[in-house]
Amino acid sequence: MQYDEVVIGSGAGSVIASRLSADPARQVLLIEAGPGYLGASQPEDLRDPWVSLVDHDWGYSADYRDGRVQPYPRGKTLGGSTAVNAAVAMRGSPADFADWVRRGNDQWSYEAVLPYYRRLETEAGADPAVHGNSGPLWIERAAADRWSDQGRAFVRAFGDLGFAALDDLNAGSSSGAGPVSHNVRDGVRQSTAIAYLDAPRSRPNLTIWDRCTANRVLFSGDRAVGVEYIRDGVAGAVTAGRVTVACGAIESPPLLMRSGIGPEDTLRRLRIEPVAVSPEVGQNLADHAAVFLTAVGAPTGREDPAEYFEFYMRDGSYYIALLTLFSQRALGVFFGDPNAAPIVAVAPGVGRPRSRGSVEVVSRDPVPPQVKLNFLTDPADVATLLTGTRLSWDVLHNKHFEPFVKQALPPLPEIIDDDAALTSWMRATCGTGFHPVGTCRMGPDSDAAAVADQHGRVRGVRGLRVADASVMPGLVSAPVNLTVLMLAERIAEWMAAENE
Ligand SMILES: Cc1cc2nc3c(=O)[nH]c(=O)nc-3n(C[C@H](O)[C@H](O)[C@H](O)COP(=O)(O)OP(=O)(O)OC[C@H]3O[C@@H](n4cnc5c(N)ncnc54)[C@H](O)[C@@H]3O)c2cc1C
Repeated sequence: MQYDEVVIGSGAGSVIASRLSADPARQVLLIEAGPGYLGASQPEDLRDPWVSLVDHDWGYSADYRDGRVQPYPRGKTLGGSTAVNAAVAMRGSPADFADWVRRGNDQWSYEAVLPYYRRLETEAGADPAVHGNSGPLWIERAAADRWSDQGRAFVRAFGDLGFAALDDLNAGSSSGAGPVSHNVRDGVRQSTAIAYLDAPRSRPNLTIWDRCTANRVLFSGDRAVGVEYIRDGVAGAVTAGRVTVACGAIESPPLLMRSGIGPEDTLRRLRIEPVAVSPEVGQNLADHAAVFLTAVGAPTGREDPAEYFEFYMRDGSYYIALLTLFSQRALGVFFGDPNAAPIVAVAPGVGRPRSRGSVEVVSRDPVPPQVKLNFLTDPADVATLLTGTRLSWDVLHNKHFEPFVKQALPPLPEIIDDDAALTSWMRATCGTGFHPVGTCRMGPDSDAAAVADQHGRVRGVRGLRVADASVMPGLVSAPVNLTVLMLAERIAEWMAAENE
């Protein structure tokens, strides 16, 4: 069968497939490597809005820095990582998009992206100038009278330090502390599979193939004309008018390289016939380095079931999350022991890091790539995290927090004022919220090394786009899910209007 559109990967790819198939004249195929569940068939681990890495993970590892290799989860199911993530729904700030524009991406100002953040969501009762009320993704945010005691203390403590209290972190402020919004409805995580595919799946012009791994994009000259895949162990190929790659920041670069688009030396080493030389495919990997300042908590007995990542603060280039693990449920999920000591943690992260890692392809077959994060290699990131860590320390020891903190855990009390020791500790312990972006970054026409243009069109070929986290030119100072979906909404609109 000839499809007008083949979309590979179903995180942001579900947005593209859903929007393009709204036109009944367009035949759309969505390919997903993992298993697909729609409607009520979602297994429990995908319904539960806490991070779930039970069955639907690619099982990757990454070198965080200096050879410290740790797991690096990515969702492998319909909905991609949006189906397994922590459901924190936070937009990028105006300052973040000013940074994108500074890098030459003049079509991605905050004013330009705001309509697409609105389009993707329904946030009942929210200010309609800022929020959407008819989009596919359901968003919930706790009103002030439902804030947990710890969350209230977090906001008050930052207030003592001169930061604004915000009741909506997504209302266009670049600085302040407040409650996190979640893409959760009736206790169920709203992945893109649920939000974008549940209703459209009955369209006769939308075909979804799960358990189908794309091996490479096929070309006729410089035009993408199809996709070669393996489905249930059987190899096949499908022809396409256009192809959209949305495999995420770790899998999109290998797919492009297997298709002949990548750095010249890598293609030569892997004996792949070049279609277009593109030196930065797999480079510019950015992720949020973060550390956890933990303390033994003192539960009040009134914990909100929404505990976990409940409150955030951001300012300039860092953001700080409050993590409370007080209930037996939370302790069971995190430590496997519902009777573990309750933990309160304040976690600062580098919001717009300058350190860059890479995704290195090691084979012409679909095998795991080597991921290097190189966290905290740029001195500016170290300075940012030192500031964020000391601020977090002050919050943890603020009078408003006293009732919830029994004892700060070592080694921080001994090293908090020592630059060198604190830097070593940050480098040795930093983790992440799993927000990789940038490995097929976009750029303006004057930026010849950019893998894609500002519309996601891959340079040097025709009929091929990247529409996922990999095309972002840099990070935003927030978890990235909403920003990736906003980006996909925007690219889908351009695609629907284009006649190629
Ligand atoms: C554990 C975890 C927790 C997170 N928590 C949050 C959070 O709370 N809030 C937030 O904003 N962000 C969070 N994120 C990040 C967020 O989920 C991602 O940034 C977002 O899902 C990225 O979308 P994407 O489309 O780029 O990639 P993905 O969502 O990863 O989608 C890529 C899809 O492509 C498929 N695929 C890959 N290769 C192939 C192939 N060759 N053939 C066919 N299919 C393929 C994959 O199986 C996957 O379904 C979290 C991520 C993880 C992993």
